[in-house]
Amino acid sequence: MDNGTRPGRGFTLWFTGLSGAGKTTITDIVEKELRDGSVPVEVLDGDIVRTNLSKGLGFSREDRDTNVLRIGFVADLLTRNGVGVIVSAISPYKEVRDQVRRNIGDFVEVFVDCPVEVCAERDVKGLYARAYAGEIKEFTGVSDPYEPPVSPELTLKTDEESPEESARRVLDTLVELGYLDMAEEYNRA
Ligand code: ADP
Repeated sequence: MDNGTRPGRGFTLWFTGLSGAGKTTITDIVEKELRDGSVPVEVLDGDIVRTNLSKGLGFSREDRDTNVLRIGFVADLLTRNGVGVIVSAISPYKEVRDQVRRNIGDFVEVFVDCPVEVCAERDVKGLYARAYAGEIKEFTGVSDPYEPPVSPELTLKTDEESPEESARRVLDTLVELGYLDMAEEYNRA
Protein backbone atom coordinates (compact mmCIF):
# COMPACT_ATOMS: atom_id res chain seq x y z
CA MET A 1 0.00 0.00 0.00
CA ASP A 2 1.34 3.41 -0.89
CA ASN A 3 0.75 5.77 2.00
CA GLY A 4 3.11 8.43 0.75
CA THR A 5 6.18 7.77 2.84
CA ARG A 6 9.40 7.78 0.81
CA PRO A 7 12.80 6.39 1.73
CA GLY A 8 15.41 8.93 2.75
CA ARG A 9 18.53 8.93 4.87
CA GLY A 10 19.12 6.14 7.35
CA PHE A 11 18.25 6.86 10.96
CA THR A 12 18.00 5.23 14.34
CA LEU A 13 14.74 5.82 16.10
CA TRP A 14 15.47 4.97 19.72
CA PHE A 15 12.57 4.35 22.10
CA THR A 16 13.53 4.51 25.75
CA GLY A 17 11.21 4.13 28.72
CA LEU A 18 9.97 1.88 31.49
CA SER A 19 8.68 -1.62 30.93
CA GLY A 20 5.04 -1.29 29.89
CA ALA A 21 5.42 2.35 28.86
CA GLY A 22 4.43 1.50 25.26
CA LYS A 23 7.68 1.07 23.32
CA THR A 24 6.68 -2.17 21.61
CA THR A 25 3.13 -1.03 20.87
CA ILE A 26 4.31 2.17 19.20
CA THR A 27 7.18 0.40 17.43
CA ASP A 28 4.73 -2.03 15.82
CA ILE A 29 2.59 0.78 14.39
CA VAL A 30 5.54 2.88 13.21
CA GLU A 31 7.24 -0.17 11.67
CA LYS A 32 4.13 -0.99 9.67
CA GLU A 33 3.70 2.59 8.45
CA LEU A 34 7.33 2.79 7.36
CA ARG A 35 7.16 -0.57 5.57
CA ASP A 36 3.96 0.50 3.84
CA GLY A 37 5.94 3.49 2.62
CA SER A 38 8.72 1.19 1.33
CA VAL A 39 11.23 2.47 3.86
CA PRO A 40 13.76 -0.29 4.64
CA VAL A 41 13.25 -1.03 8.33
CA GLU A 42 14.89 -3.18 10.98
CA VAL A 43 13.65 -3.47 14.54
CA LEU A 44 16.04 -4.17 17.39
CA ASP A 45 14.05 -5.10 20.47
CA GLY A 46 15.93 -5.14 23.77
CA ASP A 47 14.27 -8.34 24.98
CA ILE A 48 14.97 -10.17 21.72
CA VAL A 49 18.60 -8.98 21.60
CA ARG A 50 19.00 -10.41 25.09
CA THR A 51 18.12 -13.88 23.75
CA ASN A 52 20.87 -13.89 21.11
CA LEU A 53 23.46 -11.11 20.71
CA SER A 54 23.43 -10.37 24.45
CA LYS A 55 22.62 -13.85 25.72
CA GLY A 56 23.95 -14.31 29.25
CA LEU A 57 23.94 -10.65 30.20
CA GLY A 58 22.17 -9.69 33.42
CA PHE A 59 20.74 -6.45 34.74
CA SER A 60 23.65 -4.80 36.52
CA ARG A 61 24.52 -1.34 35.27
CA GLU A 62 27.52 -2.78 33.44
CA ASP A 63 25.51 -5.48 31.70
CA ARG A 64 22.71 -3.08 30.79
CA ASP A 65 25.24 -0.68 29.32
CA THR A 66 26.90 -3.50 27.36
CA ASN A 67 23.53 -4.50 25.97
CA VAL A 68 22.79 -0.94 24.88
CA LEU A 69 26.23 -0.55 23.29
CA ARG A 70 25.75 -3.76 21.31
CA ILE A 71 22.36 -2.63 20.09
CA GLY A 72 23.91 0.73 19.22
CA PHE A 73 26.71 -0.95 17.29
CA VAL A 74 24.30 -2.88 15.09
CA ALA A 75 22.03 0.14 14.73
CA ASP A 76 25.00 2.19 13.54
CA LEU A 77 25.93 -0.35 10.84
CA LEU A 78 22.38 -0.41 9.55
CA THR A 79 21.85 3.34 9.76
CA ARG A 80 24.97 3.95 7.67
CA ASN A 81 23.45 1.75 5.00
CA GLY A 82 20.26 3.72 4.68
CA VAL A 83 18.09 1.60 6.95
CA GLY A 84 15.46 3.03 9.27
CA VAL A 85 16.36 1.30 12.52
CA ILE A 86 13.84 1.16 15.35
CA VAL A 87 15.26 0.34 18.77
CA SER A 88 12.89 -0.56 21.55
CA ALA A 89 14.84 -0.95 24.76
CA ILE A 90 14.41 0.33 28.33
CA SER A 91 17.99 1.70 28.10
CA PRO A 92 17.83 3.30 31.54
CA TYR A 93 21.20 5.07 31.67
CA LYS A 94 21.61 8.45 30.07
CA GLU A 95 25.37 8.35 29.63
CA VAL A 96 25.41 5.28 27.43
CA ARG A 97 22.41 6.48 25.41
CA ASP A 98 24.31 9.71 24.75
CA GLN A 99 27.37 7.69 23.73
CA VAL A 100 25.31 5.76 21.21
CA ARG A 101 23.81 9.03 19.98
CA ARG A 102 27.30 10.42 19.32
CA ASN A 103 28.38 7.25 17.50
CA ILE A 104 25.36 7.09 15.24
CA GLY A 105 24.73 10.76 14.56
CA ASP A 106 21.40 10.20 12.82
CA PHE A 107 19.77 9.47 16.14
CA VAL A 108 16.21 10.27 17.08
CA GLU A 109 15.54 9.71 20.76
CA VAL A 110 11.95 9.18 21.78
CA PHE A 111 11.15 9.21 25.47
CA VAL A 112 8.16 6.95 26.01
CA ASP A 113 7.02 8.62 29.19
CA CYS A 114 4.52 6.98 31.48
CA PRO A 115 4.26 7.09 35.28
CA VAL A 116 5.46 3.89 36.89
CA GLU A 117 2.08 3.55 38.65
CA VAL A 118 0.34 3.40 35.26
CA CYS A 119 2.89 0.93 33.87
CA ALA A 120 2.39 -1.22 36.97
CA GLU A 121 -1.38 -1.06 36.55
CA ARG A 122 -1.06 -2.13 32.90
CA ASP A 123 1.39 -4.84 33.94
CA VAL A 124 1.46 -6.19 30.38
CA LYS A 125 3.83 -9.02 31.23
CA GLY A 126 2.95 -9.50 34.90
CA LEU A 127 6.44 -8.36 35.85
CA TYR A 128 5.51 -5.42 38.11
CA ALA A 129 3.52 -7.65 40.47
CA ARG A 130 6.55 -9.89 40.79
CA ALA A 131 8.91 -6.93 41.16
CA TYR A 132 6.82 -5.36 43.95
CA ALA A 133 6.65 -8.78 45.61
CA GLY A 134 10.44 -8.79 45.62
CA GLU A 135 10.65 -11.74 43.25
CA ILE A 136 12.52 -9.78 40.57
CA LYS A 137 15.55 -7.81 41.69
CA GLU A 138 16.91 -4.83 39.76
CA PHE A 139 13.57 -4.02 38.13
CA THR A 140 13.69 -0.62 36.42
CA GLY A 141 11.42 1.94 38.05
CA VAL A 142 10.81 -0.26 41.10
CA SER A 143 14.18 -1.33 42.45
CA ASP A 144 16.56 -0.05 39.76
CA PRO A 145 17.10 3.45 38.35
CA TYR A 146 15.68 5.01 35.22
CA GLU A 147 17.33 8.21 34.02
CA PRO A 148 14.96 10.11 31.70
CA PRO A 149 16.38 11.81 28.62
CA VAL A 150 17.15 15.49 29.12
CA SER A 151 16.51 16.70 25.58
CA PRO A 152 14.94 13.92 23.51
CA GLU A 153 13.72 14.72 20.01
CA LEU A 154 10.25 13.68 21.16
CA THR A 155 8.41 12.84 24.37
CA LEU A 156 5.28 10.71 24.27
CA LYS A 157 2.94 10.81 27.24
CA THR A 158 1.37 7.41 26.77
CA ASP A 159 -1.01 7.80 29.70
CA GLU A 160 -2.56 10.81 27.94
CA GLU A 161 -2.55 9.85 24.25
CA SER A 162 -3.52 6.80 22.22
CA PRO A 163 -0.91 4.52 20.60
CA GLU A 164 -2.06 5.80 17.19
CA GLU A 165 -1.54 9.43 18.25
CA SER A 166 1.88 8.59 19.62
CA ALA A 167 2.88 6.80 16.40
CA ARG A 168 1.59 9.71 14.34
CA ARG A 169 3.78 12.13 16.33
CA VAL A 170 6.80 9.88 15.75
CA LEU A 171 6.25 9.88 11.99
CA ASP A 172 5.72 13.65 12.01
CA THR A 173 9.02 14.07 13.84
CA LEU A 174 10.83 11.93 11.26
CA VAL A 175 9.38 14.14 8.54
CA GLU A 176 10.34 17.34 10.39
CA LEU A 177 13.90 16.08 10.83
CA GLY A 178 14.16 15.33 7.12
CA TYR A 179 14.33 11.54 7.38
CA LEU A 180 11.07 10.94 5.58
CA ASP A 181 9.47 12.62 2.69
CA MET A 182 5.80 12.39 3.45
CA ALA A 183 3.20 13.08 0.79
CA GLU A 184 0.55 15.59 1.82
CA GLU A 185 -2.34 13.18 1.46
CA TYR A 186 -0.73 10.95 4.08
CA ASN A 187 -0.52 13.85 6.52
CA ARG A 188 -4.22 14.45 6.11
CA ALA A 189 -5.18 10.77 6.44
P1 ADP B 1 6.94 -1.72 26.49
O1 ADP B 1 7.33 -2.27 25.15
O2 ADP B 1 7.39 -0.31 26.70
O3 ADP B 1 7.34 -2.63 27.62
P2 ADP B 1 4.24 -2.39 25.67
O4 ADP B 1 4.10 -1.71 24.36
O5 ADP B 1 4.54 -3.87 25.67
O6 ADP B 1 5.34 -1.61 26.55
O7 ADP B 1 2.91 -2.16 26.53
C1 ADP B 1 2.25 -0.90 26.64
C2 ADP B 1 0.77 -1.05 27.01
O8 ADP B 1 0.20 0.27 27.15
C3 ADP B 1 -0.03 -1.75 25.94
O9 ADP B 1 -0.99 -2.59 26.58
C4 ADP B 1 -0.73 -0.59 25.19
O10 ADP B 1 -1.96 -0.98 24.62
C5 ADP B 1 -0.95 0.43 26.31
N1 ADP B 1 -0.98 1.84 25.84
C6 ADP B 1 -1.92 2.76 26.15
N2 ADP B 1 -1.69 3.96 25.56
C7 ADP B 1 -0.55 3.79 24.85
C8 ADP B 1 0.22 4.66 24.00
N3 ADP B 1 -0.10 5.95 23.75
N4 ADP B 1 1.30 4.16 23.42
C9 ADP B 1 1.67 2.88 23.64
N5 ADP B 1 1.01 2.02 24.43
C10 ADP B 1 -0.11 2.46 25.03
